[in-house]
Amino acid sequence: MSIYRNIKQAVSVPQAAAHYGIHVDRSGKCCCLFHQDKHPSMKLNDDYYYCFGCQAKGDVISLTEKLFDLTPREAAQKLAADFGLAPSETLKQAAVKKAANRAEKDEREYVLSLLNKNIDILRQMKENHAPKHPDEPFHVLFVEACKYLEFFQYVSDVLSFGHSADVEAAMKYIKKTQMIPLLEKVLEVKKCRN
Ligand SMILES: [Zn+2]
Repeated sequence: MSIYRNIKQAVSVPQAAAHYGIHVDRSGKCCCLFHQDKHPSMKLNDDYYYCFGCQAKGDVISLTEKLFDLTPREAAQKLAADFGLAPSETLKQAAVKKAANRAEKDEREYVLSLLNKNIDILRQMKENHAPKHPDEPFHVLFVEACKYLEFFQYVSDVLSFGHSADVEAAMKYIKKTQMIPLLEKVLEVKKCRN
């Protein structure tokens, strides 16, 4: 099981021994946990321990099992908890979630940049078609610009400053109403005209 492998990779036998208060001498030996041992005869290597007295041998998990009288699974859980390691599944889920968050953030930033460019265009349009006299009828482009400008600014504000639930709802709405291709199209048309 990969949880065992992850723990064995993350925690060496001497690290666990030190953490659990086993006295280790300068040659990396301690008194054996598996037989009555007056002089240190258990050698702690990084990956395994070995007793020169009783030939007991094992890894960091079996060491922890013996120390605390646990099953292998319990020992692995204890090591994971004591050394701040998440079980591999949790790590995998966290990585997937991180990637999803990343993609969501990228998408939000993309929509925001589209919105802001459209807002600039609409502002220009509004200015260009604004009535010059109080009795002049409104130009259709002026009316359209005002309408969309207000809406786009609102959406842009939500995406920039909204609570995560509002941002999520806004993004859902944007996708549902196919707003992204529309926003892209306006920019393309604008580019062709310039
Ligand atoms: Zn021994």
